[in-house]
Amino acid sequence: MKKIAQAKKVISVRGASQGPLKNVDLEIPLKGLTCFTGRCGGGSRVMAVEVLYAESRRRYMLALTPFERENLGSIGRVDVEHISGLPPAMYFESGGIKRGESLATFLQLEALLAQLWHRNGVCHCLQCKGPCRSFSAAEAAAEAISVFKDEQILIVGPLKWKNETAIESMVHELLRAGFTRVLLGGEIVRMDELDTSAEIFLNAQGLDVVIDRLVPARSSKNRIIEAIGNARAMASGTSLLVGGQRDQRLLLNKQLSCLDCGKSYPDLVPEDFLQDSRREHPLVNLVELAGKRIKDLDEMRLDEVSAFIEGVLGEGERDLGGLRMLKAALDLGLGYLKYGRNTEDLSSGEKQRLIMGSCLGSGLTGILYIFEAPLVGSRGRETQPLLKGLRALVDQGNTVVALEHAAQLREIADEVINFSRGRIEPGEDLNSVITSKPKRQQPGGGASAKLFVQVEGAHNLKRIEVEFPLHRLVCFSGVSGSGKSVLLNGVLLPALKSGGRARKARKGSINISGGEQIRRIVDLQPGQSSRGKLLLVEMGGAEFLAGLFAATAAASQRGYPPEWFQLDVAGGRCTKCEGRGVLHYDLEFLEDISLVCPVCEGRRFRPEILDITHRGQNIHDVLEMTIERASEHFLREQNLRKIFAAATFCGLGKRQLGTSSEHLEKAESLWLRLAVELARVRATDLFILDNPSAGVHPEDLQLLLQILDELVGRGASVLVSEQHPEIISAADWLVEMGPGGGPQGGMVMASGHPREFAKKAD
Ligand SMILES: [Zn+2]
Ligand SMILES: [Zn+2]
Repeated sequence: MKKIAQAKKVISVRGASQGPLKNVDLEIPLKGLTCFTGRCGGGSRVMAVEVLYAESRRRYMLALTPFERENLGSIGRVDVEHISGLPPAMYFESGGIKRGESLATFLQLEALLAQLWHRNGVCHCLQCKGPCRSFSAAEAAAEAISVFKDEQILIVGPLKWKNETAIESMVHELLRAGFTRVLLGGEIVRMDELDTSAEIFLNAQGLDVVIDRLVPARSSKNRIIEAIGNARAMASGTSLLVGGQRDQRLLLNKQLSCLDCGKSYPDLVPEDFLQDSRREHPLVNLVELAGKRIKDLDEMRLDEVSAFIEGVLGEGERDLGGLRMLKAALDLGLGYLKYGRNTEDLSSGEKQRLIMGSCLGSGLTGILYIFEAPLVGSRGRETQPLLKGLRALVDQGNTVVALEHAAQLREIADEVINFSRGRIEPGEDLNSVITSKPKRQQPGGGASAKLFVQVEGAHNLKRIEVEFPLHRLVCFSGVSGSGKSVLLNGVLLPALKSGGRARKARKGSINISGGEQIRRIVDLQPGQSSRGKLLLVEMGGAEFLAGLFAATAAASQRGYPPEWFQLDVAGGRCTKCEGRGVLHYDLEFLEDISLVCPVCEGRRFRPEILDITHRGQNIHDVLEMTIERASEHFLREQNLRKIFAAATFCGLGKRQLGTSSEHLEKAESLWLRLAVELARVRATDLFILDNPSAGVHPEDLQLLLQILDELVGRGASVLVSEQHPEIISAADWLVEMGPGGGPQGGMVMASGHPREFAKKAD
């Protein structure tokens, strides 16, 4: 038997030199789980996002739009020699759920539920609570047969008129059209024998014109449909059936109407049941499906919603796939989440599980899934469902690349690729990296100040009474969903911002005392930085720098104002690209593509502005400087030096001043925000950070702790919600929330110095 050499099924990357990458060759197993790891800035994210994901998107775009291919040629290409075996890629940022997206939208349940309520819901009248329905002529005929069966009925057009003077002419018209009888006071009367001046007409609002007399079960369905159609044509969409033993009157209207009192309503469409319907239909919240209104779902848990929908769906409908994402979310242990919950309030661990649920539930195969920090915010056994989910995606026939530093993921990965300084390094034990803890400096003034917080039943928290020191690093810990983020962001942040006054929450009460000396509360949510500005601008150095250039002899001689050395206003910047250095092209299906500006060649400013130099460098040269270099260059400029030194301290020294903040890694965005604060921190500042270790490499945790330590060292108060053991043990004070997640959480289990916790545990 001949040996057949089988090609290894891989994504093969040759000569990747994008960003920090230095001519990297790489093979990633197709239908495998690969872990990219390495220090911040080492190149792992660039390889995953700016090479693999970007190239996949570029190829997809070229396949879609030949016109753009003609026009853009090879521009927008990723800096790589060759990639083969690349599947269509999807990229999920850590916690990357759009703002304001509800659980229902995210799990793609809205359309299904809107259909269900529209199709099967029972609608009730605003006036009399009676059932409301609309009937097509065929539905009305079927209703007639099922209600009256073998009894004789009249099919009547309930004609309404505007004023009584028209009675005679109307009767005349009807007779001419061939109608001969009306129903009057329960009797059938010939129209040509009507005394239209009779008292009975004085208060009548119309005339019940008899269209047909028949026995439904013994008549052809077409005859019934035709009669109902004629009645409706005459009586603006309404038809009345009268008959049976008790002269029952059944109003079957084309338009949505109350079956009891006849009041009509605008017809309901499935869209009326969506959360952002453009119009508010008066009856939407009176439509019941199995006894529930659609808004009642908001208060139900996801597992209850799932059981409810299954009960309502018909036998053959349960496998149609509409519930797959919901089912996957339940499998990932999210059954306790309330359906109406805003995704912004979810913990990062919950967000990750939700993202995983949507990937698994989509049922796609042959995809390259790229996840950034999928285990962020989860620890211990909480990581198990996520790890299983990653494996399940592979089993479905997908390829998974996870940017993750956690040991659990590296252990189960088929391949671990470690990036460092733009190269692939042989593996190393990352857990041994953290050796020493930073030394705590002497805290600033008012070291004995404390904050006292009392919460009673607000924000799903139980009764909480807790006290902790200010001017210290205080850590709120506990399992995912235990309420630590809610306590920090939902309770403390707004309460402190409102000056620490007692607040009545929507439910329950919140009391805070001891925060009087806090002047400024800073919410340092990771990933919250405004995107797409230059680092120089983000750091607040643009005006100082512009002032320096405008003050040079050459600039003042020519009368150039400081604004001309800035990019946010017209004047000195390139008019073609408005100072961006690149031109954006909108593509129909994808994000923009950027080309270097042909006028300024990427230098952002007009040539005469670039003539002005400060200590031998023009404004563009300065934007090209690394922050480290800039802090030496501007050593004598106190304001700039302070800003650049803080950024260098925060690990951004190797970045250029002209780098756009959107090109920062997740951890770097946090460093940037911390650097800005570090440059201006005061002892009256209080910082709140939710899960700051998210996406931070173990080696960089040391840096995070050093920065937090520096803030506290300068007297600030720092509150973090965090479950990373390194941060917990570095904290000056620990508040442990629990005991479980979701409904099992919401209580303070213990509060004190971490050392005392350790003693208690012994
Ligand atoms: Zn009614
Ligand atoms: Zn330009």
